[in-house]
Amino acid sequence: MTDAGRHPRITLHTLSEVVDVKGYVGNFDVKIVKKARYVDETACTACGDCAKVCPVVRPDEFNIGLSSRRAIYSPFPQAVPSAYVLNPGECLGNNPTVCTKCLDACEKKCIDFHMSDQTFSERVGTIIVATGLSPYDPRKLDEYGYTRFANVLTSLEFERLVNAGGPTQGELVRPTDRRPPKSIGFIQCVGSRSARRGRSYCSNTCCMNTVKSTLVLKEHDPDVEIKVFYIDIRAFGKGFEDLFTRSRRKGTHYVRGLPGHVAQLPDGSLRVAVENTATGQLDYHDLEMLVLAVGMQPAPSTQRLQEMLGLQLTSDGFFLELTPSCSPWMPPQGGSFTPAAPRVPRTSRRVSPRPQPRPCGPSA
Ligand code: SF4
Ligand code: SF4
Repeated sequence: MTDAGRHPRITLHTLSEVVDVKGYVGNFDVKIVKKARYVDETACTACGDCAKVCPVVRPDEFNIGLSSRRAIYSPFPQAVPSAYVLNPGECLGNNPTVCTKCLDACEKKCIDFHMSDQTFSERVGTIIVATGLSPYDPRKLDEYGYTRFANVLTSLEFERLVNAGGPTQGELVRPTDRRPPKSIGFIQCVGSRSARRGRSYCSNTCCMNTVKSTLVLKEHDPDVEIKVFYIDIRAFGKGFEDLFTRSRRKGTHYVRGLPGHVAQLPDGSLRVAVENTATGQLDYHDLEMLVLAVGMQPAPSTQRLQEMLGLQLTSDGFFLELTPSCSPWMPPQGGSFTPAAPRVPRTSRRVSPRPQPRPCGPSA
């Protein structure tokens, strides 16, 4: 992202939204609304003096609420441009006369409460739609206790906790007592592969993400006990099976079966009830932390983009490709909003009618 921001032939429009697209392949007219940042991004040095004095504390979306930020903040480390942004909906009264602490703290005088949204157009030849994804909301699966037990995390929250740039600088600690867990469980397919309990499709990434996480954990602490509850592990890509084998050799215990119930013990640990479908037995596992490998679903912006660009969606709600294996980046014919050119036959070759199938039964 930093390299793209510096490249002389790439223009980044951050904090911006595409609101309309007109034209055809090679000549698109794209209407963009650039939201007011309330900070002059060319003058801000990202020193952070404004955030130090801001009295408003809000959950940090980048760390999925595991840390906090102020009403004026940098969205994430290495954000491009390297400038702070002020959220007018959170700033005290959206009125500098109410607070002005950041205005007074900023030596560069780059905070401006009078900025407004700007609308402009860009001409481009090709549009690449990169919408991202939304994680499945595990609050809908109450049996895993995500809303009731603090030591039940999603895979994305776990990812932020073990990330060196995360809220704990990469140290994995339990939310309840802030000490490293000695045993961790992963529940696969949370919101995936079940039309009744989420989405009917396999999200493709969760199995290998969990396998990777087990290896990261074993690197941090070889003695940590890890159990993975799964339907089947889909290690389908190049080298994936080797990673899965490495994970098992390092001592990760893979249990075939999805838990039906999770209860909390007095010390904050979790008791997981699961029918092991390999042995047919109902087992109970006590674990100090539980990670839900949540599935992926289309981003909320998909529907709006689909209507604006005239693309087609699959029944799952993702964008439809021409062919998933050969041209996964191309929209299907008729899916583009380019006016379809009339087909001109190259030759006047006559196509002879197909021979009719012979009737069955005894010949006359
Ligand atoms: S004016 Fe708003 S952003 Fe600035 S310090 Fe006060 S509350 Fe924070
Ligand atoms: S707005 Fe001013 S005080 Fe805040 S980070 Fe930028 S230069 Fe520093």
